Amino acid sequence: MSEKEDPKKTNFIRPNFIRRIIDEDLAHGRHARIATRFPPEPNGYLHIGHAKSIVLNFGVAEDYQGTCNLRFDDTNPHKENREYVEAIKEDVHWLGYAWGERLYFASDYFEQLYGFAVELIEKGRAYVCALDAEQIREYRGTLTEPGQESPYRERPVAENLDLFAHMRAGAFPDGTLTLRAKIDMASPNLNLRDPVLYRIRHGVIHHRTGDEWCLYPTYDYTHPISDALEGITHSLCTLEFEDHRSLYDWVVANVSVPCRPRQIEFSRLNLEYAVMSKRRLTQLVDEGFVAGWDDPRMPSIAGLRRRGYTPEAIRTFCERIGVTKADNLVEMAMLENTIREDLDRKVPRAMAVLRPLRLVLESYPEDRTELLTVPNHPKDTTKGTRPIPFTRELYIDRDDFMEEPVRGFKRLVAGGEVRLRNAYVVRCVRVVKDRTGAVVELRCTHDPATLGKNPEGRKVKGVIHWVSARQAIAAEVRLYDRLFTVPEPGAGGRDFRADLNPASLHTLTLCFLEPGLAAAAPGDRFQFEREGYFVADKDSHPARPVFNRTVTLRDTWGQKMGGRKTGD
Ligand code: ATP
Ligand code: MG
Repeated sequence: MSEKEDPKKTNFIRPNFIRRIIDEDLAHGRHARIATRFPPEPNGYLHIGHAKSIVLNFGVAEDYQGTCNLRFDDTNPHKENREYVEAIKEDVHWLGYAWGERLYFASDYFEQLYGFAVELIEKGRAYVCALDAEQIREYRGTLTEPGQESPYRERPVAENLDLFAHMRAGAFPDGTLTLRAKIDMASPNLNLRDPVLYRIRHGVIHHRTGDEWCLYPTYDYTHPISDALEGITHSLCTLEFEDHRSLYDWVVANVSVPCRPRQIEFSRLNLEYAVMSKRRLTQLVDEGFVAGWDDPRMPSIAGLRRRGYTPEAIRTFCERIGVTKADNLVEMAMLENTIREDLDRKVPRAMAVLRPLRLVLESYPEDRTELLTVPNHPKDTTKGTRPIPFTRELYIDRDDFMEEPVRGFKRLVAGGEVRLRNAYVVRCVRVVKDRTGAVVELRCTHDPATLGKNPEGRKVKGVIHWVSARQAIAAEVRLYDRLFTVPEPGAGGRDFRADLNPASLHTLTLCFLEPGLAAAAPGDRFQFEREGYFVADKDSHPARPVFNRTVTLRDTWGQKMGGRKTGD
């Protein structure tokens, strides 16, 4: 990281090449104010890559006291729908950005776009072409060979106008005619070889305009005009549009729009162990590999939210990765560290036993309940304390006991001692097993002199967590891991689905939580001590709490899968 940052502030401003361009534009008086837009196509949910674009576009607008429009780029009715529109709005809002009145739809410009197309025809800069899609491809030529002009290229203006009007009126079936820009079939840039501006699409229902149109404009034609109509000054998009920039400029230069926005490209966010294309994400949902767009394993904003991510952590992550033109693959560990840092500061601690093993204190009276006062946060006293019950019968985690310990095991062993966090030191005096030899219960004694601290000269290294059996709340806990086993799913032409991690979800159906957690509402976050960060799922209710693991306490990937902390 090159810039100094204050970790307590999530919205620090990092200079990047785009902000430098804007500074220069402002210094030269090219704009009175800055206007950006975020232009999602409503054909899927937003993902963490979109968050990069959102943080950039809304962030730049904020920094320069400008504006950022939310514009739905909805010119391809086939895969677009209202569910996606609503989900996208919710996600942008949740990330902390407000568009206010500045909500736009490219489809609102259909009439104007049509008018500009007529203008292009009248100027002799567009024509109606009867080549079919395959012929257009053949005529286009290659990077090394120039294209061939369409036989319809010199059609008279009046005939073009008449045909175009009839296309709109529905006189021609799909695929028979297109409107094409008349630019240059010999251009080294293939995008300038008479690109298609309009195609005919009958029988699809657009989510806003219904069946009003059977003629739809292409992205390359719609985007620059939408930008210009909205007075966008800097149209920030991802690098795959670099080769389209000259077409963008051509469009705004050749129709009577009020201004000429500038397109600037930056590199997409790619994240390890994730896929980011909407086509693939849709496939994961439709083919049932995940439980929906908001499955906590998805890199979608909805998935990350359900996983327990905070908007602040996502914004911080987006600022940290920076904005450049260099291709990149960001480590998943970087995203995970950002959420860890954020949650460490913010969320209260709680005790939860995920793989319960009964522990009975033979020395502790049967009818006794002590209410221990425990801090909610080890470093932040403003977060207060809470009472937790301590009784004779407890649960501890199975992984915190070993009958025959391996070297370095600092937790409870047969005949050994361990500290129960916030409570007493206990000694295991007997191990109870069932007929198969499995451990079912530990019989222990406690040392009354050790409540909360070790007396002089007494050293007990291991500390484990626990809950009181009688008051414990039974819960389901979902442990999520990475959705893919390799950093670049589908690399080398492999089917990306072959790289799915079969162990990405591990559901524990009988966990025990400290009693206060019964009151957790969906979305409430906690650190389960020694286990990780968890959030109450939307499936959670008081009779049956359900928690999702957001992230482990430390980066355990690379150690064996499911590897856990040691007993410190
Ligand atoms: P697809 O996944 O099908 O390529 P898309 O991700 O481009 O689609 P859009 O809805 O068109 O989907 O994206 C809206 C905006 O978000 C665009 O400006 C796009 O450049 C930007 N964007 C999309 N993916 C990323 C990414 N991974 N990193 C940064 N910006 C992105
Ligand atoms: Mg796109």
